[in-house]
Amino acid sequence: MSDPTLELSGIAKSYNQGRENEVTVLREIDLSVNAGEIVALVAPSGAGKSTLLHIAGLLDTPDAGSVKIAGQDVTGLSDRKRTAIRREDVGFVYQFHHLLPEFTALENIVLPQLANGIAAAKAEERALDLLTRVGVSHRADHRPAALSGGEQQRVAFCRALANAPRLLLADEPTGNLDPETSDQVFAALMELVRGTGLSAVIATHNLELAGRMDRQMRLEGGALVAL
Ligand code: ADP
Repeated sequence: MSDPTLELSGIAKSYNQGRENEVTVLREIDLSVNAGEIVALVAPSGAGKSTLLHIAGLLDTPDAGSVKIAGQDVTGLSDRKRTAIRREDVGFVYQFHHLLPEFTALENIVLPQLANGIAAAKAEERALDLLTRVGVSHRADHRPAALSGGEQQRVAFCRALANAPRLLLADEPTGNLDPETSDQVFAALMELVRGTGLSAVIATHNLELAGRMDRQMRLEGGALVAL
């Protein structure tokens, strides 16, 4: 059995919100996500899911505990090494697409690959393949402003997967869409993740969407509880 893609052990995180006002957001988080597994992170707003996803994706550091990506303990590594691991192994999707407005859908997926040393022709081929998987290849040459909200998010999923990460972290990826679009875009995300065999932690308020994932964890009072 290979190492879990993501392993969080004893993660704690507090924030100082002014004098003598320390808020403990995460107390004792243990989470192990195996290769190919999709875990729903269910939490009300303010419960700390962004904090948890940022720690898992090496964008933030915990006060205590360890983060392992594919068996490697990244807790004590330098910023440079953490950045390299994040770039290679982790893809992020947010509630808003954050695509670059002056580039086309295709270019938004090509650029991160060029930054990673992939040749242009190969990067374009992969970008088009990803766009085809989520059903928006016909919009490849459009800029984000010319796309619908659902199409923008589909392109953002492709960009997150551009460099074939091991782990996808998504923070309310369909939270900004109307219910019907959200449903379809979520289905496209699930197909994309299943088709590429990567692991994912997807935060959502929506219990119905959470139910379509392999496992559901609720973040409550700074701890994770299985649903
Ligand atoms: P969620 O994503 O579930 O809405 P967050 O992880 O964004 O929750 O935030 C959880 C709590 O931590 C909130 O009370 C928020 O105010 C606090 N918090 C988050 N980031 C910071 C920060 N950089 N400084 C101080 N407090 C923060």
